[in-house]
Amino acid sequence: MPDSYGTDPFGQAAADLPPQGTRDASWFGHPRQLARLFTTEAMERFGYYGMRALLTLYLAQHFLFSDTTTTGIYGGFTALVYLTPLIGGLMADRFLGSKRSVKFGAILMSLGYVVLCLSSSGGAAKPFALIEGQRYEVMVSGTGDARKQYVTDQGASLQIKGNEDKSVSLLRADGSEARHVAPGKFEPGGERSALFTFLLICGLALLTIGNGFFKPNISTIVGALYADGDRRRDAGFTIFYMGINLGSLFSQILCPLLAVGMGSWGGLGWWAGFALAAAGMAVSWLLFQFDGGKLDGFGERPAHADASKDLLIYIGALAAIPLVYLLFANLMAYVKPEPGSGFLGYLATLPIMGKIMFGTFLVAIPGILIWSWRNGSKQEFQMMVAAMVLITFNTVFWTLFEQAGSSLTLFADRNTDMSVFGLFSISAGQTQFFNAFFIVALAPLFSMMWGALARRGLEPGIPIKFGVALVGVGAGFLLLVWGTQFADAHYKVGLWWLAGLYLIHSMAELCISPVGLSMITKLSIARIVGLMMGTWFLSIAVAQYVAGVVAQFASVETVGGEVTNLKVSLETYAGVFQTIGEVSAVIGVILLVLSVPLKRLMHGVK
Ligand code: GLN
Repeated sequence: MPDSYGTDPFGQAAADLPPQGTRDASWFGHPRQLARLFTTEAMERFGYYGMRALLTLYLAQHFLFSDTTTTGIYGGFTALVYLTPLIGGLMADRFLGSKRSVKFGAILMSLGYVVLCLSSSGGAAKPFALIEGQRYEVMVSGTGDARKQYVTDQGASLQIKGNEDKSVSLLRADGSEARHVAPGKFEPGGERSALFTFLLICGLALLTIGNGFFKPNISTIVGALYADGDRRRDAGFTIFYMGINLGSLFSQILCPLLAVGMGSWGGLGWWAGFALAAAGMAVSWLLFQFDGGKLDGFGERPAHADASKDLLIYIGALAAIPLVYLLFANLMAYVKPEPGSGFLGYLATLPIMGKIMFGTFLVAIPGILIWSWRNGSKQEFQMMVAAMVLITFNTVFWTLFEQAGSSLTLFADRNTDMSVFGLFSISAGQTQFFNAFFIVALAPLFSMMWGALARRGLEPGIPIKFGVALVGVGAGFLLLVWGTQFADAHYKVGLWWLAGLYLIHSMAELCISPVGLSMITKLSIARIVGLMMGTWFLSIAVAQYVAGVVAQFASVETVGGEVTNLKVSLETYAGVFQTIGEVSAVIGVILLVLSVPLKRLMHGVK
């Protein structure tokens, strides 16, 4: 990805065009193939982010998983989404070529959304509660904020109400307390259908594997449109990044709309949201598969490879589904360690996925550095050290940023007043659209800003941009925490506090995300640039996993998918958000201080 976007946002300055670029420059001054890659990726992200706007709420409210399991599954899923590109990228480089990989990935992902759609078509889960060890069925009535849960005790229907001291009251119709259940004696649960849970996990597995083939390789083709040294490359990636967010923006509004409705309309059901994601992904595949020869010569099979391994790779990818399935099953069986079991106790209970993520990261970083120290020059080694330091800080950024899909969406559902100027209300999943919207609005402005600063020799270096991003992502959370003081009598804060968080987070994203990949290519020892790119993706994968763990700290008790006490949940979110906000801001400041020695280690790379 670009480290600066050139002097104008879309790189149209005629002087920038190298001779080989002018012959096909017909789309915003860029190779016309970019248009097809833009639409293909926009539709793929339409599917992905539309599904992401639904997933957490779907797990919590349709499958009735506890918050801990919901955010754990979400974190594990997104971690795999960023881990599989390592393998997908490798397969494309060695055997398939980028184009075949993208096509195969697109088919798997389309199937994944269809399977998710099927997983939602029946009674996936029935809520129940264990009260002092005895099981009671739970009935749910009403929709949205009016949803109430009841248990039937000796023929009477009693409403469940959580209290601040974590005890639970069972209330008669007149509001009087029929029974008081001491803290810890009320255990909510859900009985899930084995078939639908199976379909859910299969759908998620198909998506992670498909994404591994699709996502890294479509970006590689974008890179291949430009000759080395073509100054339009960075601007090309900016346009591509706009496509990503344009696709996301629409589906983050539409998929939740179809799934859960808006205002008084209850929507068509979860299936419709996933069906729309599937349709978007299918369009992405069609655009790419039937490109009318537009992409001929790009992303083709590498010269040294033939088709003999293709079938094996396709079969191998499908054979990985049960493996991913087992990883998910292991995640779902996770139980929090006993309080006081310490860090080692925590590590011991970590799901296999967590052990793989942390293990790989902790071996890769020092391992690659030792290799560089032995095999590289002093300067190369120093540049690699700088890269590794920045990769490590990158993990902190995405850990906080990715709360968007999990804890922030649950916060929106539970503790946010979703009214827009009193005119209409949006749903919790739809709040995810703020990020894509701000990126589309701000990316051109940021390009112009970096360009203007660069012309005056003032463009900040990469470590400073990273530091600012970390402070920013922390500040976004602190803004929201500040807003929680102004919550209304129902413990809900105004939607604009959340929008403010997303505005700050999006500006932070523009300082770090488009910068990262290109930085890696520049700092890495050339022989291992692929491995370093993989390490970059690995750092985002680890961050997604840790993001799930952080979101687990923000878990609150739910019955039948609904929180029992909104005051407790508001306090829990505020506490966790404050901690991560402060930690990230401090880490950001540390990085800003470190930017001086880091600059020296980077030997002029900007
Ligand atoms: N929103 C961007 C995308 O989906 C970047 C996300 C990331 O790199 N973590 O491609």
